[in-house]
Amino acid sequence: MKILLTDLNPTEIAERLNIKPFQGKQIFRWIHQKKIFDFDRMTDLSKDLRTRLHESCAAGQLQLASMSTSPRATGTKKALFKLSDGETVESVLIREKDRVTLCLSTQVGCAVKCSFCATGHSGYTRNLTPGEIVEQALYLLTDENMGERTPNIVYMGMGEPFRNYDATVRSIRLLMSPDGLGIGARRITVSTVGEVRGIEQFANEDWQVRLSVSLHAANDEKRSELIPLNRKYPIAKLKDAIRTYLDKTNRQITFEWTLLDGVNDSMQDAKELIALAGSLKAHVNLIPYNPVHGLGYTPPPRDRCEAFRDALEQANISATLRKEKGQDIDAACGQLRRRHAELANTN
Ligand code: SF4
Repeated sequence: MKILLTDLNPTEIAERLNIKPFQGKQIFRWIHQKKIFDFDRMTDLSKDLRTRLHESCAAGQLQLASMSTSPRATGTKKALFKLSDGETVESVLIREKDRVTLCLSTQVGCAVKCSFCATGHSGYTRNLTPGEIVEQALYLLTDENMGERTPNIVYMGMGEPFRNYDATVRSIRLLMSPDGLGIGARRITVSTVGEVRGIEQFANEDWQVRLSVSLHAANDEKRSELIPLNRKYPIAKLKDAIRTYLDKTNRQITFEWTLLDGVNDSMQDAKELIALAGSLKAHVNLIPYNPVHGLGYTPPPRDRCEAFRDALEQANISATLRKEKGQDIDAACGQLRRRHAELANTN
């Protein structure tokens, strides 16, 4: 079994290969800073060490299967990666004026089965390794994609990150490494749909990484319809876990709210959200739904989205309303993979 180098930090690379710490750093820098996976191109390593790497190690487990660039939403790209076992995962890169936001996947598929989500409807296959998560960033945070922009990372792609907790946390530490991409903790956000034990565990991590909670409804009946996990962890339990998190970290959380036409966009929905977000001093991120073929949901008209945001702001809840980005490239999580599977089944 080969050693998967992108799972490891510089110290671990050195230990596993029984080489000097500085050599572990050299290998890590080639992979994470120069994004070179070909051992023959790691020119400051001795020939013997390169031969050993060929014999016992692997790096670059992801292969780019397809890349879509949105002609309408400037700068939005969606990548479909093929893994070494033939499974596929997606990542989305959103380029704006002064920053890029990269959305990473943590699982192949997802068992949570949110009713509006393409990934949930495809079922769960397996967890990603830390290296498979990190490599999505290594492939997409290129000089060409970044330019002078600051990178932001959100764990909001395929999968529920807290159902793959250890790999998620390890991948974050690898992305933050000063010998690698050196992404600042405050520029990384993990988004959970409400895995209460994960939130409690996350509160104990020694960092400033941000937490967001996909809420989508602030009463149990509606939330359980949208997110079946709410039956296990209803809003009262979720609220307790968030309070624990706030007490321990003193960091503001964000509620993600995907706006679904006629489902969670009424003034009554806004009122319930205001009560919950107000009691937890949460920021609210409103996201007009990115339609998924066959699931029956649509985004509300723009003026209703704006009215919903205005209602929150009038109640002193800080809120942002995201622009739709990448509808023309299946940019919602799991859509590209689903489309590929449909095409494969019809061929
Ligand atoms: S929205 Fe997230 S948690 Fe829900 S099914 Fe999709 S990937 Fe899983």
